[in-house]
Amino acid sequence: MEIAFSRLDERVARFTISGVSTSFANMLRRAMVSEVPTLAIEDVRIYDNTSVLFDEMLAHRLGLIPLRTDLDQYRPRSECTCEGEGCPACTAIYTLSVEGPATVYSSDLIPQDPDAAPAEAEIPIIELDTDQKIVLEAHAVVSTGKEHAKWQAVTACGYKNYPIITVDEKCDGCGMCIDECPRDVLEAGQGKVRVNRGRQEFCSLCRLCERACLAGGIGTEPAIHIDADENRFIFVVESDGSMPIREIIERALQYIQKRSDDLVDVMNEITGEGTE
Ligand code: SF4
Ligand code: SF4
Ligand SMILES: [Zn+2]
Repeated sequence: MEIAFSRLDERVARFTISGVSTSFANMLRRAMVSEVPTLAIEDVRIYDNTSVLFDEMLAHRLGLIPLRTDLDQYRPRSECTCEGEGCPACTAIYTLSVEGPATVYSSDLIPQDPDAAPAEAEIPIIELDTDQKIVLEAHAVVSTGKEHAKWQAVTACGYKNYPIITVDEKCDGCGMCIDECPRDVLEAGQGKVRVNRGRQEFCSLCRLCERACLAGGIGTEPAIHIDADENRFIFVVESDGSMPIREIIERALQYIQKRSDDLVDVMNEITGEGTE
């Protein structure tokens, strides 16, 4: 298996994995979406709410705000020594107090722990008119996207097969496929069409080029052929800001490794291997 990154910054990663099956690619995607824990607001104590939103809707909006998450500091309540009571090791606490007229933003959520602040400061929560007011305390806990999308660490997370583009000797360089391609993948070169340098992975496998070639009257088979590599995948993953994208990928891979190790242990127990 090989991994090559074409982009890796704080929020976005674009990488190609080669030598794996579709099942493995999907397992990695699912692990990143639903098995990487983050903080999200779960309990809200509302002391005053004279806004136009019901308490429940307000709490729902607060729950969807991405929070910066240090998993070395916070653990799920179910694994905490406080046994679900809530303590600094499993719960981040925020206060919010705003009087209208004003727009309430995520930056109005004041965290007790600055390292667990909202990932974005300018997420609008609600517009308050004159004489409207919100005063509340919110508690965030750690869980995973498997329980609810508010604990999902990624906003976008998908993959596609790596495109294979071949042009055969029938190509006369008419350029119709170049004009039709919506991704600027093709270019003219030496009387034929060829792949634009560095653009191959942007091919969406739409096959409009094949259709354009056929429409030019070349016969029953186009001169350009689009195929998908069954063992090579291009991933694009975006973090919601709760943690760096690199950490999300690493934690997803650690999850897969742990589940595999657990399975091996169970198999050894069943077959009696590894025991005296
Ligand atoms: S399949 Fe679509 S995106 Fe890919 S080269 Fe052909 S027209 Fe362009
Ligand atoms: S449309 Fe067909 S013949 Fe024309 S340049 Fe493209 S591949 Fe070649
Ligand atoms: Zn605790």
